[in-house]
Amino acid sequence: MRWSGQELAEEQPSTLPGLARLSNFVRSVQTPEFAGITFHEVLAKSALNRIPGGGTAMPFGWTINPYRGCSHACAYCFARPTHKYLELNEGKDFDNEIIVKVNVAEVLAKELGKASWGHHPVALGTNTDPYQRAEGRYRLMPGIIAALADSGTPFSILTKGTLLRRDLPLLAEASGVVPIDLAMSIAIYDDELQQSVEPGTPSTSARLATVTAARSLGLRMSVFMMPILPFLTDTRAHLEEALRQIEDAGATSVLYTALHLRPGVKEWFIGWLAEAHPELVPRYRELYGSGAYAPKDYRSWLAKRISPLIRQHGLERGRDPITGGVRSSALGRVRTADGGSSLIAEELPPGAAPTHSLATEPTLF
Ligand code: SF4
Repeated sequence: MRWSGQELAEEQPSTLPGLARLSNFVRSVQTPEFAGITFHEVLAKSALNRIPGGGTAMPFGWTINPYRGCSHACAYCFARPTHKYLELNEGKDFDNEIIVKVNVAEVLAKELGKASWGHHPVALGTNTDPYQRAEGRYRLMPGIIAALADSGTPFSILTKGTLLRRDLPLLAEASGVVPIDLAMSIAIYDDELQQSVEPGTPSTSARLATVTAARSLGLRMSVFMMPILPFLTDTRAHLEEALRQIEDAGATSVLYTALHLRPGVKEWFIGWLAEAHPELVPRYRELYGSGAYAPKDYRSWLAKRISPLIRQHGLERGRDPITGGVRSSALGRVRTADGGSSLIAEELPPGAAPTHSLATEPTLF
C-alpha cells in the first residue's frame, strides 16, 4: 500500500488507550513537520458512509471522511462533537489527535466496484477537511478522486485547504468524466480575526488564490461564506469587501449561513470569544442562549443585508440537479479523446482496474 512506505519519524508507544483497543488500529505517529499533532493510523473497514435521511434534507446521501479530527482547528467547527469517542475530546484533541484512514482509497475502490453501488453523489468535506495538513503527508485524496471518477460517481469537495492545488490537474481530468462540485470555505476577510478563530488554516488570500487557480483550469468553484459571525463579520463593510474579493478571485457563486453552535461546540467557541472578544460574550449568550441556531430575526436581517450584495456581484448560486450543488463542470463539457496519459489511471488505488476509457463517452449513472 502506498502509505506504508512513508518514513516514520517517531512511533508513539503511548497510544491513546481507546485507540489501542481497536482491532484496526495500526500505529500513532508524531513527526517534526507536524509539531503538536499526533496521527493515529487506522485501517478503515468501509469508506462510504450513508447519511440518514440524505438526499432529502441534504443534497447528498453519501460521504467519505479520510480523516477524523481537523488540524485547521476552527473554534466554531460543528464537527467537534464527533471526536468524542475513543477517549478523545471535542477541544484540543479534535485539533491535534487526527485519525487517518490510511487504506481509505483502496477500500473505496472495492465498494465502488460492487454491482450494487448506485453511483449516488458523494460529498467530501462535510465533516472534517479532506485537505487539512495531514493530507500533505498521507496523500489519500488522489486515490479517492481517481476511484470516484473511474467508477462514474459524481462528487463534491468542500475545503479550506490550499493543498487542493496539488490535485487540480487530476480534478480537471475527472471533471471531464463525472460531475464535480468544488467549494472553498472562506468566511473571514480580516487577517487578524481569521488567524485567531481558524488558527490552523491557510490565509484568506491563499484560499482565494486557490479558487483562481481552479478557475484557470476551467473548473467551477464556489465560495462558502460559512459561518458569518454575528457582530464580527456581518458588517456591511466586511461583507462588501468579502464579495469584492470573491468576485475578483473568479468564484462562480457564494453560499452563506450564520454561525451555528451545537452543544459541545458552543462551549468551545464561547471560550475562544471570552479571550478574543470578551465584550461580545453577553450578546452571543443572548443570541445562542436557547438554541444552536441564530434566532430567525437575526437570520432574516442577515439575508436582507447580504442577498442584494451577492446578486450585485453576480454570485448567486444555481442548483446542479446531480450533485445538489453548483452547476457541475462536467455538464456540457466534451471529454478529450486524444489517447494521452491519464492522471486518473495513474492514481487509481492498487487493485482497482480502470473501468473507463478516455476515448468513449462516460456512463454517469
Ligand atoms: S476546516 Fe472545517 S472541519 Fe476543519 S476545523 Fe475548520 S470547520 Fe472544522
